Amino acid sequence: MSAPTLLPACPTCNGPRLLGHPLGLVFWHDPACALGVSEDARQAADAELRGAGAVRRPSTLSEKHLLRAAGVNVFDDVETEVQWVSNGARRRTWRDCHGDPAVVDAADPA
Ligand SMILES: [Zn+2]
Repeated sequence: MSAPTLLPACPTCNGPRLLGHPLGLVFWHDPACALGVSEDARQAADAELRGAGAVRRPSTLSEKHLLRAAGVNVFDDVETEVQWVSNGARRRTWRDCHGDPAVVDAADPA
């Protein structure tokens, strides 16, 4: 019997990261999780910018915490690129410390 694969979890509520999610970096937060609340607030703020198409903005502290929990090494001044794949579905991408697209999902080609 092989050991189970341990997924990186939210550092605040220990909620699992959803691997293979089409929107990339997605965690299943406890409703009271401060990082989850912050992520929800940022998603609402991003929705206000939806008409502008793809948007690049400074990453939030929560995004940086979650990226690092997912094993992605990012600079403190990393930026988030937000794209809307449908009316309500936001996909975010980042660059790692080498300037390469950050691989936040093991389902992505490395
Ligand atoms: Zn959480």
